[in-house]
Amino acid sequence: MNDTGRPSGATGTQHPRAALITGFLLWALAAPLAAEPERVVLRGARLIDGRGDAPLAGVSLVIEGERIVSVRKTTAASAGTRVIDLGGATLLPGLIDAHTHPLISTDSYQIDQLRWSSAYKALKGLKAVQDNLLAGWTTLRIAGDADRYYAHLDIRRAIDEGMFVGPRITGAGHYLSVTGGGGDINFLPSELRVPTDGKVVDGVDEMRRAVREEIKYGSDWIKLLVTGAFMSTGDRPEDVHMSPEELRVAVEEAARRGVPVMAHAHGTEGIKQAIRAGVRSIEHGTFMDDEAIDLMIEHDVFLVPTVYIGEYYIEKGSDSEEMEKMVELSKSTQADFELRVAEAVRRGVKVAVGTDFGGYPPRINAGEISAMVRVGMTPMQAIQAATRVGAELLGWEDRVGTLEPGKLADVIAVAGNPLDDVSELEDVIFVMIGGRVVKAPDGVSVAGPTMGPR
Ligand SMILES: [Zn+2]
Repeated sequence: MNDTGRPSGATGTQHPRAALITGFLLWALAAPLAAEPERVVLRGARLIDGRGDAPLAGVSLVIEGERIVSVRKTTAASAGTRVIDLGGATLLPGLIDAHTHPLISTDSYQIDQLRWSSAYKALKGLKAVQDNLLAGWTTLRIAGDADRYYAHLDIRRAIDEGMFVGPRITGAGHYLSVTGGGGDINFLPSELRVPTDGKVVDGVDEMRRAVREEIKYGSDWIKLLVTGAFMSTGDRPEDVHMSPEELRVAVEEAARRGVPVMAHAHGTEGIKQAIRAGVRSIEHGTFMDDEAIDLMIEHDVFLVPTVYIGEYYIEKGSDSEEMEKMVELSKSTQADFELRVAEAVRRGVKVAVGTDFGGYPPRINAGEISAMVRVGMTPMQAIQAATRVGAELLGWEDRVGTLEPGKLADVIAVAGNPLDDVSELEDVIFVMIGGRVVKAPDGVSVAGPTMGPR
């Protein structure tokens, strides 16, 4: 499977015996695939398709291999069909987290990335993305991650190669930051030069090189820290960090390779400059004014506001160097920010759900869907923001985000009705990815849920 849109690895020239062995392996692998794919019927009390249609009652999803083949009224299943009956549960499309950082798992993330090897981060990150999958998040867009190397893109590789089961992953290798920006380490004395969690880039030549390097090592998004950040010390989220030339070159260089750009931008000036430069999504958008919202609509730019993380830190607090500022700034800005997101929702900006967590216990992720309801979405709209809209942002609307014939069978279920209480999504009881069941309630018979090799 290669759902990332990247070409599969080339094999290159081979020794004749290697070619023979490869030939046999291909034959052996192809043999079982030639058989009819198994047909599974998945039943629930209601189905929310992600398109915004009224929920369907008493519906079965028919799945063959990794895809959905039909959605139909529940009738007696034909002989030889495996039936998974989830009783009174609600079926929904797998959730899409459009902004996450699986390698970040504690508040001291800038120190962690120094004390942990890339290999250890990969192992920890693999556990994190599998936990996300088990919580219902079947697709992740990584907004750059806290490793000098590309541990999270190797996690994706291991999943794509079938070594482990995990969510579908797309995203950026690093967050690109200016010197002194949110991806730099700003709390050490000048004589200490240590690797930074983000990739530090200054000037158009370095930007060009950084974008090319990110793509070379597997990024299918470029992430820019256009303004200062809430996390990290020593910078201010209102400030525009990147010059118009740096922004222009980043978008131009990424576009040359068909790679979209996501822009972390809090201050309204930075938001506007990023949109005018041609980015595909604004991350956070904290201080967006009406003109910034107009620009998002005019340029068809998505907003991934990551609202809930601010509420989380206001409530939880933090004693880490990196998050102290996050807590204080959130206290002073969160209420106004939520009003601005409400305005963007009201005016019809395409808003996708992104958590900004990743390596934290994934039960908190659904807090972002509840937050979308608090800023004025209906539960149905909030579910779409976490499914169909996320798929559109990724350009993956032909594969995921809705439950329709032809789509990949990424399906989750919750016990109750999330249209009555959207926090039901904190407790996902069933998860299927690409037709494979990875989580099921006790007593429901499935063919061995497991997170091991395929
Ligand atoms: Zn982030």
